[in-house]
Amino acid sequence: MPMPHKKSSPSHSWVYAIWGLNLVVVICLLGAGFLYANGQRASAAHALTETPRAAPTQRLPPTSYYLPTLTPNPFFTPPVFETSTPFVLDHGQQSNIIGLSHQGRPIDVYTFGSGEREYLIVAGIHGGYEGNTIGLANELIRYIIDHPEIIPSDVTLYIIRNMNPDGEARDSGVDGRVNHRGVDLNRNFPSQNWVADWDRDGCWIWRPTTGGSYGGSEPETRAVMSFISTHDTLAIISYHSAALGVFPGGDPWQPDSIRLAKALAKATGYPYPPIDTGCEYTGTLADWAVENGVGAAVDMELANHRDTDFKQNLEALKVLLNFVP
Ligand SMILES: [Zn+2]
Repeated sequence: MPMPHKKSSPSHSWVYAIWGLNLVVVICLLGAGFLYANGQRASAAHALTETPRAAPTQRLPPTSYYLPTLTPNPFFTPPVFETSTPFVLDHGQQSNIIGLSHQGRPIDVYTFGSGEREYLIVAGIHGGYEGNTIGLANELIRYIIDHPEIIPSDVTLYIIRNMNPDGEARDSGVDGRVNHRGVDLNRNFPSQNWVADWDRDGCWIWRPTTGGSYGGSEPETRAVMSFISTHDTLAIISYHSAALGVFPGGDPWQPDSIRLAKALAKATGYPYPPIDTGCEYTGTLADWAVENGVGAAVDMELANHRDTDFKQNLEALKVLLNFVP
């Protein structure tokens, strides 16, 4: 059955509608034109009366180019980030910046005491992945501020609480281990055994990483190297996690570092000799340190990736501060 046709309205009514619509459009165009002309006049008048503006005082952030260089790029200006204020500042404890990370985050050192025997603790070399080492450093710093008598009068203790702030800022899991350029900082020190790449058997394999383009290629590494080179450090603990124990520095292990590792293992209960997974460690901070005049150095691993093991490491601190290489 055919649909009934609706009777169309008189033809002149939609002609009126179209002309009505046209009229609205014309009025709108006229209005817009008037407003535009008015604006031009006003800005022209403003330009005539305005005094020349002073040069802007606010400095623009530096431009950075991430060039694929093998050598440090002299034109690289690291952007400086706002950093979270370390919790210890409310105690009035001062820290000094020993260098900047690749992304421009400061690497701080806290200094306690002013004696001749110098010791160093480094935490956070593996960034957020081993973030509990940074947590431990924070707890040690707070403890020493509250108990300054723990530092013998002839000792100066330095604590670098976070050697890899870019890694820490990036992630608290496996992605937070390397620095901004994907370098494992504990394989970037220019020790005699430094290599860019290594056999991954028994080693950490969860993300691609390298030892850098050369030993000491990374700004974080160079900051710590320059700090160590300008101090007469008797012994170093470089904190890691997790579980493998205490690794003496040196390749082969240096005797004083073995003695320090044994003493620390006894105080903490961490394994010594360290658990052998078959991994070959190259370019480590501890290896480079003992090759460059530091009395003894160890890599020491907390028991897991979460806890700071504060009580054990307070005992470790006492061992460190009394260690004579
Ligand atoms: Zn580590």
